[in-house]
Amino acid sequence: MAVIMDGKALAAKVKEEVRAEAAAMTKKPGLAVVLVGDDPASQVYAAGKKRDCQQCGIYSEEYVLPAASTQEELLELLHALNDSTSVDGILLQLPLPAHIDEGTVLRAIDPAKDVDGFHPYNMGRLMEGNAAVAPCTPGGVMRFLQEYGVDPKGKLCTVVGRSNIVGKPMALLLMQAHGTVTICHTKTPDLKACCLGADILVAAVGRPGLITGDMVKDGAVVIDVGTTRDRDGVLRGDVDFPSVEPKASYITPVPGGVGPVTRAILLENVLRAARSRGKK
Ligand code: NAP
Repeated sequence: MAVIMDGKALAAKVKEEVRAEAAAMTKKPGLAVVLVGDDPASQVYAAGKKRDCQQCGIYSEEYVLPAASTQEELLELLHALNDSTSVDGILLQLPLPAHIDEGTVLRAIDPAKDVDGFHPYNMGRLMEGNAAVAPCTPGGVMRFLQEYGVDPKGKLCTVVGRSNIVGKPMALLLMQAHGTVTICHTKTPDLKACCLGADILVAAVGRPGLITGDMVKDGAVVIDVGTTRDRDGVLRGDVDFPSVEPKASYITPVPGGVGPVTRAILLENVLRAARSRGKK
């Protein structure tokens, strides 16, 4: 029987730490959330972030631009937010409408306010092993490991998925923590063998149930980043929980695992950004 890693409890702990730190500051940390269009999922995420900020004493602003807004209009808003003294972190909710170039607008965010850690400057710092902020999801996974006393040092780690926002930064963070890391993707010839070798297995794919019990080593730590809504609206992870849980030593559930911790780490990143911008 695996230990179920409790994301809700860990998120509450991180949020309480942020709340206490923010309360002791004379100037409130501030987050601006920017949405373009009316994607319902993005609206739900943005509302959740606003609530999180309220709970933790972080000032927040929300901007919703119409889907037809031009790239120039979005850039204008981002430049204004870069100049704002009350805003320490800017979160641009993805995905963006197709006529807006994601790379161009993400690069327009001041790296000092890039609380998602997606700006090439911050990605470069992460690559150097010197990140000011790590992207929230992989940062949340590292916090999970720390919380449950799982040290990647000397461990074989497999990350399934190589996206810029999860897989790649995840692999870098595990390597920086002295794990020996294998990264898998759609062109990996023998996914099962790569997963079976792992002491720590992180699935960040978006294919419900891809990782099954026969792909997992006895006693492995299994972190499920995947979140896919099925036809019934149920959130499903990449890990087939019923077959994997009996083999794992630790496992994150979906929902209630990595998701809430990711949200909490965003708040921590806002606090860090505020401090590095001189707020005390
Ligand atoms: P993504 O950009 O679509 O990347 C998915 C990765 O998985 C790609 O590298 C892809 O390989 C790989 N992949 C797809 N099918 C595969 C297969 N059958 N075997 C091996 N590798 C496969 O997705 P993402 O943004 O990284 O997100 C991944 C998942 O995490 C999604 O479910 C997303 O919703 C979830 N997520 C959750 C949180 C959270 O807070 N819990 C945050 C972010 C993302 P190629 O590169 O070869 O295409």
